[in-house]
Amino acid sequence: MIVIVGAGGHGLSAAYHLLKRGVKNVVIIEAKRVGYGSSSRNISRYRVYFNDKKNVEFARKAMEFFSKESKELKFNTMFMRTGYLWILGEGPTEGFRRSTNLWDSEGLGGKYLDCNNFNFLKEGLGECYFGPLAGSFHHDYLTLSYYEEVRKVHTFLSGEVTQLLSSGGKVKGVVVEGRQVQADTVLITAGAWTSRLLSSLGLSIPIVPERKEAYITEDVKFKVKPLVIDLATGVYFSHTLKGEIIGGIDRGVQGFVEFSISLDNMLAYLKRLRHLVRGIEGIGLMRGWSGFYEMTPDRSHVMGFDPQWPEGLFIDAGYSGHGMMMSPLSGEIMAKMIVDGKIDGLAQPFTPERFRTHKLLEENMVI
Ligand SMILES: Cc1cc2nc3c(=O)[nH]c(=O)nc-3n(C[C@H](O)[C@H](O)[C@H](O)COP(=O)(O)OP(=O)(O)OC[C@H]3O[C@@H](n4cnc5c(N)ncnc54)[C@H](O)[C@@H]3O)c2cc1C
Repeated sequence: MIVIVGAGGHGLSAAYHLLKRGVKNVVIIEAKRVGYGSSSRNISRYRVYFNDKKNVEFARKAMEFFSKESKELKFNTMFMRTGYLWILGEGPTEGFRRSTNLWDSEGLGGKYLDCNNFNFLKEGLGECYFGPLAGSFHHDYLTLSYYEEVRKVHTFLSGEVTQLLSSGGKVKGVVVEGRQVQADTVLITAGAWTSRLLSSLGLSIPIVPERKEAYITEDVKFKVKPLVIDLATGVYFSHTLKGEIIGGIDRGVQGFVEFSISLDNMLAYLKRLRHLVRGIEGIGLMRGWSGFYEMTPDRSHVMGFDPQWPEGLFIDAGYSGHGMMMSPLSGEIMAKMIVDGKIDGLAQPFTPERFRTHKLLEENMVI
């Protein structure tokens, strides 16, 4: 029996890919509701642009996989290539230049341009960088596609897992609100809540929640195709297909704080958005929300197992704000790992062992 803790994008993707491999004895346990965590709170953009080489390799494979899989899923995930556009102002910082050198050496096709080349931006913003291998999708259709595929075959249990069980060096199951569920394999995809759960076995994985906010405007004529990132202020935004502008600002609060939004952040975002985009003077925000980035010390995800852990315990979490785009490939990798019992090459740098052995990946491109 396999237990998956958490019904977000990652848990459901793993469940779907296990089913594709013929594995049906899966129980998915969710504390709140399907997609309660960051999987329903993100702004659904994807990119291959990271500044650690292993993350670039992983993201590149993940985007190829997502693009292919989106054609097979029940709902249209609206996977589209739109690019990312960085506003650099007076020019790139040394760190940004290092990243674009890596992207050039990996053949990711980006280029430096005058921002005046982009008609939707106001004039005189200085230098920009456009990366074409990036885009958007719809997170809800992705999550719901996986849910639709598995809901009649796998078992869903509602309740909070409060404890992991092990004995004799092997996983034995979990405790869900006082009730034991036996399992010889447990996959933890509990997003920002993952560390809390692992601590019930005395295991420590450094994943901490950081609350981030997102906002959506009223709709205006479609013009902002790429995701725009304003490096000076940390504001980022893009159009949705409906015509709203969706985005956020790089300000966070660490810890399990309540899901609220700050007026200060919202106004800073709106002011900068109006300042940068042509023809949206006076545009209003319709709503805002927040969710947790699940941050690791090297801002890279954690997948697989540690040989020092009880046998049968797996993790897939800690995506540090860029996990929705990775969920199709990560689910496939985890399903394969659980069935074969081996870690594949792409996953190897991301195993939890790296925190113990100090082989960190040092990713800094968190958006
Ligand atoms: C504002 C914002 C914008 C973002 N933008 C993007 C973006 O543009 N692109 C991108 O790729 N990513 C983005 N992300 C990040 C992305 O949303 C996450 O990395 C991803 O959704 C993580 O998915 P998950 O399945 O691992 O975790 P989650 O979706 O958080 O799911 C974890 C689930 O586990 C459940 N759970 C937790 N503890 C327990 C327990 N003890 N027992 C039972 N169930 C439990 C929770 O209720 C939850 O449903 C953004 C995130 C935020 C907050």
